[in-house]
Amino acid sequence: MNDSSSPPILVVGAGIAGMTAALEAAEAGRNVVLVERDPSVGGRVMRIHHYFPKHCPPSCGMEINVRRIEQNPRIRVIAAAEVAKATETKGGWSVTLKVAPQYVNDRCTLCEECSKVCPVKVKDPFNLEMSEAPAIRTPHPYAYPRRYTLDRDACPDGCDKCAEACTYDAIDLNAKATEETLDVASVVVATGWKPYPLEKLPELGGGELPDVIANVNMERMATTTGPTAGKILRPSDGKPPKTVAFVQCAGSRDTNHLPYCSAVCCLASLKQAVYVREQLPESEVTIFYIDRRAPGRNEDVLTKVAAMDGVKLVRGKVGKVTAGDGGQLELRVEDTEANKIITASADLVVLATGMVSNLKDGPLPFEMTRDDDGFGLDNVDRNLIVAGVARRPEDVAASTRDATGAAAKAAFAAGRRA
Ligand SMILES: Cc1cc2nc3c(=O)[nH]c(=O)nc-3n(C[C@H](O)[C@H](O)[C@H](O)COP(=O)(O)OP(=O)(O)OC[C@H]3O[C@@H](n4cnc5c(N)ncnc54)[C@H](O)[C@@H]3O)c2cc1C
Repeated sequence: MNDSSSPPILVVGAGIAGMTAALEAAEAGRNVVLVERDPSVGGRVMRIHHYFPKHCPPSCGMEINVRRIEQNPRIRVIAAAEVAKATETKGGWSVTLKVAPQYVNDRCTLCEECSKVCPVKVKDPFNLEMSEAPAIRTPHPYAYPRRYTLDRDACPDGCDKCAEACTYDAIDLNAKATEETLDVASVVVATGWKPYPLEKLPELGGGELPDVIANVNMERMATTTGPTAGKILRPSDGKPPKTVAFVQCAGSRDTNHLPYCSAVCCLASLKQAVYVREQLPESEVTIFYIDRRAPGRNEDVLTKVAAMDGVKLVRGKVGKVTAGDGGQLELRVEDTEANKIITASADLVVLATGMVSNLKDGPLPFEMTRDDDGFGLDNVDRNLIVAGVARRPEDVAASTRDATGAAAKAAFAAGRRA
């Protein structure tokens, strides 16, 4: 336990790992500052339709976490902020946070009047730019902090329609970025991942053929708050696909792309096969895989989906995807069981792309140690701990376990220097 005046633990990144680390540390008595670069907390899991293994929507667990954070006076959440500078001190770290301009403040009631009058539409980052949204909008339906966000760069010159429409004085179009310097006892880095870009896989049709999409796009398409209101459709003609092919290890376990396994892609595709079959019972799904990786209790998911009608698992490496006849896609596959090259066709191809560490090209100003793939390593001696996918690709259950350990290590490191 510590008293309320002792320096806080800084948690960078408020995905499931960062939120968990913040809660565990705060509920054990530490003060915590939780910094998130997006306008709201939750990270990548908020964009998932259903979680494996239980197939529940991420909003359930997230609502509970947000309530725990809101009710805990030891946690301060700073959204739309990043660590601009960090210096090691005797007691831990001195960090300077850069907070983006807060055009919409806490008086916002989410009444929607501002977005109704907004004349501009932007590509919605929450829907991975698959749909458009007003420049002023709620980041997503479960966003916390509960306030709208504004893409100020998209505003037409002189437009102040949103500020005029707001009866709560919640919009300040002249807001400026601010900086804040804090002394913190230790730092938990929970900056997570981004998807491997589809465009880097042109041989599989990525970025070139509209009906070749990534697994992250399928998550958004399947969800009712997504770009197609939950309908699984071919992007090219808006029709439901009759045949869907999942290509496993698309750019993973491949020295030309990501040399490692992202640990979740097999389970994500098995889960997405269920999305397709439940919504389109006449459809046929084929999953082309190198190895079927579903460790521990997740083996049950594999067994169940593999036994479903309309789902076929083929051990084979897909080498090429091209446009075929009649709008279909053609897959060239090395069938490693039959030991021959086969061809298959599909209306929609989903590439199971892996997770890239956000620390890879955008390292934080902490001089962190990273492995060859850009994932972070703990440096307990320097009060610098890593949590969740920032450490290694893993699922939500493993990320939260890791984050609990990270909170304990951060508190231990802080205690040593106090
Ligand atoms: C297609 C797909 C489907 C999946 N489905 C499932 C599933 O069904 N079940 C399951 O258990 N797992 C699933 N996963 C895995 C799951 O998404 C991860 O386990 C989870 O996102 C890890 O959470 P995290 O907090 O470590 O990272 P993230 O979710 O990436 O959160 C990191 C947070 O840090 C923020 N951040 C990044 N850099 C900075 C910075 N410099 N400063 C401040 N903030 C920063 C980000 O904005 C983000 O909010 C899936 C993965 C994929 C690819």
